[in-house]
Amino acid sequence: MSDQRRLVPRTDQLLADPRLRSAADRLGADLVKAVVRSTQERCRSGEVQPDQVAEVALAMLPRSASSLQPVINATGVIVHTNLGRAPLSAAAVEAIVMAAGATDVELNLVTGRRDRRGRSAMAALAKAVPDAEDVHVVNNGAAALALAACALAADPKDTGRNVVVIARGELVEIGDGFRIPELLESVGAVLREVGTTNRVRLADYADAIDEQTAFILKVHPSNFVMSGFTSAVSVTDLAGLGAPVVCDIGSGLLTPHPRLPDEPSASASLRSGATLVTASGDKLLGGPQCGLLLGRAAWVQRLRRHPLARALRVDKLTLAALEATLTGPDTPVAEALIGNPADLMARAVAIQAGLAHVIAVEVVSSTAAVGGGGAPGIELPSAAIALDPGLAAPLRTCHTPVVGHVVGGRLLLDLIAVPPESDVVLAEAIQRVVGQGTGDKQCT
Ligand SMILES: *Cc1c(COP(=O)(O)O)cnc(C)c1O
Repeated sequence: MSDQRRLVPRTDQLLADPRLRSAADRLGADLVKAVVRSTQERCRSGEVQPDQVAEVALAMLPRSASSLQPVINATGVIVHTNLGRAPLSAAAVEAIVMAAGATDVELNLVTGRRDRRGRSAMAALAKAVPDAEDVHVVNNGAAALALAACALAADPKDTGRNVVVIARGELVEIGDGFRIPELLESVGAVLREVGTTNRVRLADYADAIDEQTAFILKVHPSNFVMSGFTSAVSVTDLAGLGAPVVCDIGSGLLTPHPRLPDEPSASASLRSGATLVTASGDKLLGGPQCGLLLGRAAWVQRLRRHPLARALRVDKLTLAALEATLTGPDTPVAEALIGNPADLMARAVAIQAGLAHVIAVEVVSSTAAVGGGGAPGIELPSAAIALDPGLAAPLRTCHTPVVGHVVGGRLLLDLIAVPPESDVVLAEAIQRVVGQGTGDKQCT
């Protein structure tokens, strides 16, 4: 055995180090032991000095027991699906922590009896959309639509109605290969497509409706724009046909937003006569992943009592975050949406000045997007730091990863979706990767 091998500190010795012991309390003994073992291995091979094993093992430990990492979203896309969609407000994060232990989610502490699950989150949602007679929440937007189709259109024995009438231009693929028409068919609904890709008229719907029609579905084309020779039918006109109208508005905007004139809202859809509205909680609403169902009391109750509802039930953390999102201060998404380009530019200039002694970065005005299935085609004026595209990979592998986007041969770090308090971390990350050059080295 070589000297080096004999000098490798023993596992029990290392695990007795108070710093590694406290890490084991926080992260789990198995995880810490695995990191210690791999560091001993590196010591055996001469890569780590024997007296450095504990330090190196400590540095190798993950920040938390989950390997999900916090990321700075400098993509210029406010609701980025690959980055977990809406970042939660501080109020929502606090609510999640409070609800994490035992909590009164289904218990009335005054009477000591079982109570309606998530009643306060439901009350907050109902209060935010007074046009809804009743509300329900499931796991995501797709689940909301699946539950609606399953409860209202999947069982012809029950109602004799299992046909969903939908315009061909609204047969939407949401993303990652998932398609709304296939989702509806997967729970047993039968689709009756009307119109053409670009145009549909009221008469097309009127001709398609018969005694088998469960509902008309109006899907918001939330991730693409059709322009040119197009026509669609308004919710008001559809509601006039007599069949129930379900609106999948997607984005979760509860009331109209001045900056997003073409984005449908739950209130406006219900006021126009929609029987039921479905939407996501983690897009423009800025809350946790969930699916909102809002509308006529009798319909919402049928959904809530359907057996599938139990399989789509949201957990206490979601309920806590949703309520805090609805009742708390403006969400990060709401703040980004009203972001003032001059303020963003001033932040970019401050970052530039702070880096002047290390690297000359360029500040540019940029165009940001809402993203995540909301307000397609809307361009939001923003500001960005422009860097060498070779820095994209090192920045993504930083201690706090920074994700930008490469456009026109430059890496743009757009500030619209970066919380102002993260500017310092972003500047530090740039400083660190510049210090290392633009190779494929990792930034640690
Ligand atoms: C995003 C979206 C969905 C899917 O919602 P998830 O919350 O992602 O399940 C469905 N329909 C429309 C119109 C959407 O924009």
